[in-house]
Amino acid sequence: MSPISAETFLTTPEAVAQALNIPVEPLRAVHVVYPLRISTYYLNLIQQHGLPLWKQAVPDLSELTDTVGLTDSLGEESFSPVPCVVHKYPDRALLLVSNQCAMYCRFCTRKRKVGKPEMAVDDAALTQGFQYLSNTQCISDVLISGGDPLMLNTARLEWIIRSLRAIPHIVTIRIGTRVPCTLPLRVTPKLAAMLKKYHPLYINTHFNHPAEITPEAQQACTYLAEAGIPLGCQTVLLRGINDSPAIIKELLYSLIRIRVKPYYLFQADQAKGTAHFRTTVDTGLSIMRELIGHVTGMAIPTFALDAPGGGGKIPLTPEYITHKGDTLEFTNYKGEPYSYPNWIVS
Ligand SMILES: *Cc1c(COP(=O)(O)O)cnc(C)c1O
Ligand code: SF4
Repeated sequence: MSPISAETFLTTPEAVAQALNIPVEPLRAVHVVYPLRISTYYLNLIQQHGLPLWKQAVPDLSELTDTVGLTDSLGEESFSPVPCVVHKYPDRALLLVSNQCAMYCRFCTRKRKVGKPEMAVDDAALTQGFQYLSNTQCISDVLISGGDPLMLNTARLEWIIRSLRAIPHIVTIRIGTRVPCTLPLRVTPKLAAMLKKYHPLYINTHFNHPAEITPEAQQACTYLAEAGIPLGCQTVLLRGINDSPAIIKELLYSLIRIRVKPYYLFQADQAKGTAHFRTTVDTGLSIMRELIGHVTGMAIPTFALDAPGGGGKIPLTPEYITHKGDTLEFTNYKGEPYSYPNWIVS
């Protein structure tokens, strides 16, 4: 059986209500506005671990009462020269290749689009995307995203990657995917063998909670790592799910154990329907303060905020400098004061 078949997912309010023994009406109300999909694999994790995973996957009425969210919170549409490309930074661009995900995460930044027919990406749209990337010499890094690229069948994904590889100025190809977390059985030796042909290829995974680091997720990451693919992780800081130093620490240690290098820890975006997941920036900064210096640098991500309106990603770092002048005064990770002679000796 193919790893992606109809039985792999719960996609109706009725199926989810029955599996979790909850009322169906709220699920129906949310489902009118936002898509629903939970893999049976992730459902099983929810049943074992409860709330932190439940909240990521199960529709909640709070999604409908968000009054401060923005529809296109990162201003992506205004940086979209052709429908499936977002080109915001000088040397890199996103190529959106699929509207499908293995799970429709309730906190998703692209909640306005994913799982909806308007976002469907056909051959003509992709060809237009390749054309733009090919005509735009300054782009050396393409991020294949979506939706989830690994929801495409392997042949179609290979066509996309091969088309990008045919463009001489594209050096690195990155895939952003939540599949190693939400549907790890999709990551097969066959998929890894295909990807391996197109190096330098990087994959950024998306794990948010230590309970998501299962033997199956480890196996998926091992196939990819053994195909020589450097693995990163983009975690979102989510209220009531992972917004504590202890949980984030456990997640980061678990990630490096399965050979995934934490890349970003994101402040939650202001996407409409996700307000109930947002923390303040102070929560993330105080988590970073408990990580930096205390935890192996290998495990430390960059904490970043993606500016509303399309300003791009801004790194957020706890403040260590207490005075900047001829002498730089600062505190170390333990809060102890130190200084450094900040002048040029001639
Ligand atoms: C996040 C993002 C990138 C990649 O940024 P990096 O900091 O290089 O990971 C590229 N384009 C867009 C539009 C993005 O949102
Ligand atoms: S897998 Fe990623 S793109 Fe898909 S719903 Fe989850 S966060 Fe959004």
